[in-house]
Amino acid sequence: MISKVLIANRGEIALRVLRACKELGIATVAVHSTADADAMHVRLADESVCIGPPPSRESYLNIHQIVAACEITGADAVHPGYGFLSENAKFAEILDAHGITFIGPTAEHIRIMGDKITAKQTAQELGIPVVPGSDGEVKPENALEVARKIGFPVLIKATAGGGGRGMKVARTEADLDEAVSTARSEALAAFGNDAVYMEKYLGKPRHIEIQVVGDGMGNAVHLGERDCSLQRRHQKVWEEANSPALNVEQRMKIGQICADAMKKLKYRGAGTVEFLYENGEFYFIEMNTRLQVEHPITEAITGIDLVHEQIRVASGAGLSVEQKDIVFSGHAIECRINAEDPRTFVPSPGTITHFHAPGGLGVRVDSGAYQGYRIPPYYDSLIGKLIVHGRTRVECMMRLRRVLDEFVIDGIKTTLPLFQDLIGNQDIANGDYDIHWLENYLASKTDA
Ligand code: ADP
Repeated sequence: MISKVLIANRGEIALRVLRACKELGIATVAVHSTADADAMHVRLADESVCIGPPPSRESYLNIHQIVAACEITGADAVHPGYGFLSENAKFAEILDAHGITFIGPTAEHIRIMGDKITAKQTAQELGIPVVPGSDGEVKPENALEVARKIGFPVLIKATAGGGGRGMKVARTEADLDEAVSTARSEALAAFGNDAVYMEKYLGKPRHIEIQVVGDGMGNAVHLGERDCSLQRRHQKVWEEANSPALNVEQRMKIGQICADAMKKLKYRGAGTVEFLYENGEFYFIEMNTRLQVEHPITEAITGIDLVHEQIRVASGAGLSVEQKDIVFSGHAIECRINAEDPRTFVPSPGTITHFHAPGGLGVRVDSGAYQGYRIPPYYDSLIGKLIVHGRTRVECMMRLRRVLDEFVIDGIKTTLPLFQDLIGNQDIANGDYDIHWLENYLASKTDA
């Protein structure tokens, strides 16, 4: 049994986890940096502990301070949210050594999926389809041979990669040497590790990911897919469930492959298996061993609270559902509202002078923002998520259009106008977009 959860995060996700704990009758501890003393998650938690100054590495990434906060408050479990320490295997081990439950997978599973080559090999062994590519690391001297075997264009990717860094396309043999050496030096600078591998470069894929949850004892279910193709600089902007590109058979087939893989792995907790999807084929790219930002759209179409499930399986209580109980209903879209200029995407921290969240049937706003809240400049710019659900995609889009007009956030710039623009676009209305669509669209607007 878990009786008190320390939430090792901030912003909307700290609030999201807190809400689940309250519903389950579990006491909550918020931790915060000095910059977040007024934050909503701190106000709503049963207890709070200041863990350091504004920079993340001295507060939200400071393992010693977080463990000390558990000891001071008697928290018997930690929920890491996403980002920060959520995919840090060492953190999971340290908590374990202190007898504190980590609400997430085992350190071993985090480690396997954290290294891209190992993750890909493991996925393949578990029966998940992967992008054709090199067997493991590629060195400059064998790059040409491997690339010829895969066929151009190829993509060079950092083994330790993340956030789209250390990735270079080689369209022809002439580009290859430079692509390999640039990817290696970028990888070394970003991750302190210059190892790279090679994949077939897909030209117009969609990003489709499968939500899974496992109990750590060999039971696992999938909760369908999310289409996160609308991205800018590899950052997701708009997500949908279900994907406009899949039918029921395709959904259930790839979902079952992922659930079966998680059963074999005895995976514990929530996870996301990410794929590129092109010409009817799925290609595994990575697995995230945590709750995702976009999890609410899956909750909207299944009615299942993913944080409840995470807490259940972490405490050994097992899943609340079996695959046959999971029913997919309607369509959901999430818009990530960032405190950024909607044209240049430059962050816009500052004080929110007016804040009015929309409401009504099928509307969910996950945000720690409120009128008078001052957005600190130290963290990422996500200030809220707008999630809209409808019985059909058309109804969902109609509702989203209405809701976007109702949302008021004044005093700072936000990306709300971008969504007001997208909702009127014909390709978006048709669900006809790939992972390059948004960047091409934004570029065409700046040119015009
Ligand atoms: P990261 O961990 O750096 O985010 P991913 O492997 O998840 O790296 O890939 C990030 C993004 O890069 C994908 O969402 C996709 O847009 C692009 N990408 C990755 N692999 C390929 C590929 N083989 N072909 C085309 N695009 C790719």
